[in-house]
Amino acid sequence: MKLKVVKFGGSSLADAEHFKQVASIIKADPARRYVVPSAPGKRYKDDTKVTDMLYRCYEMIRNHEDIDEYYTQICDRYNGIIKELGIDFDISGELEYVKRSMQHNSGRDYAASRGEYLNGLILAKYLKYDFIDAENVIFFKDNGTFDEEKTNEVMARELLQHKKAVIPGFYGVMPNGTIKTFSRGGSDITGSIVARAAEADLYENWTDVSGFMMADPRIIDNPAAIATITYRELRELSYMGATVLHEDAIFPVRYAGIPINIKNTNKPEDAGTMIVAEASDYDAEKIITGVAGKKGFSVITIEKDMMNSEIGFGRKVLEVLEDHEISFEHLPSGIDNMSIVVSSATLDGRRDKVLSSMNRMVRPDSISIEDNLALIAIVGRGMVKARGTAARVFDAISNAGVNIRMIDQGSSEISIIVGIEEHEFDTALKAIYSEFVK
Ligand code: ASP
Repeated sequence: MKLKVVKFGGSSLADAEHFKQVASIIKADPARRYVVPSAPGKRYKDDTKVTDMLYRCYEMIRNHEDIDEYYTQICDRYNGIIKELGIDFDISGELEYVKRSMQHNSGRDYAASRGEYLNGLILAKYLKYDFIDAENVIFFKDNGTFDEEKTNEVMARELLQHKKAVIPGFYGVMPNGTIKTFSRGGSDITGSIVARAAEADLYENWTDVSGFMMADPRIIDNPAAIATITYRELRELSYMGATVLHEDAIFPVRYAGIPINIKNTNKPEDAGTMIVAEASDYDAEKIITGVAGKKGFSVITIEKDMMNSEIGFGRKVLEVLEDHEISFEHLPSGIDNMSIVVSSATLDGRRDKVLSSMNRMVRPDSISIEDNLALIAIVGRGMVKARGTAARVFDAISNAGVNIRMIDQGSSEISIIVGIEEHEFDTALKAIYSEFVK
């Protein structure tokens, strides 16, 4: 393999021990030329991520509190890493500069971004790689959205100047020169952007798990690992809460057709999960790639005789949602009824208004809102070919004594969504999992 971009998450760079592991992974393969680090993460369960410490500093300054003592803890973390790595690098000037800038109102994102910046400096020094500051190669537009084209152009040009480089994750620059970060976990996005600009053959995303599991290990004991998953399947699963990779990290590499390999820094020998554009070789025995779900949904049910022949009915219903800035998740409908599944949180404080607007707009025979719905997505590119998958899903759920409240087979044909009562979530998930994974 010619060129790999490697991103290491916060837990992979939490202390000097992990830095050493990371370096040995990078050195083991000369293709690993561009490295994107996160800020130091948790070293143990109740530890605090450096990013969170920096956000705290920002808040303290805003509240006119003195940060000297608290900031020392951040300095100690970086200095501790440098000392234990035994590198000759004095980072005190940088640390002092960051503190001053924070005290001089450089903004919340600036504060947060320094976790990656400082970690990147140390990692570059340790690896003897060049350092490319993300503020020179990652751009946002005035409206705060990511400027894909400019970034790709400038980044590609810059990378050509460096055989090997560290580019800190998570942040870039606004047109006015201020620092802006992606949303939390955004170093994954930086890695993907670098992979695209470098025209890499592979984007390796190193974390603390050996890839995606077929189901949430907090519910299913020791779930099987997913060897290969397509971008589309991953979108469906991560939307339902399977969080290993930042959702937006898929787009830049997907665009360029670069596969992502999720790998475990603590177990580099594990194959991890490969995320690819197309995959045909599904395991016929499993059929499904994964199952994931989320609680906290509500269903708005509207009934009206002859609804199916009333032109514009759907549009009016959706217009009400739009007016109240509510987006819908699913919209299963019958001839005389329509159900709208929305996230319950979006209804907060607007229930009565939504109901009365609906009443006014479409004059239904009845309308109601029911809460405490959970959705489960059964995802698999193999389902299209395997006849009877839906029946197996429904049987498994009903044999477990769970009542199905809603069914939606995505038109993509790679997922089936079922809605159930929240309190039956675990039971249903276990039943589906054991039906397909023996
Ligand atoms: N350090 C940032 C965070 O904690 C970004 C990242 O780790 O990807 O969210």
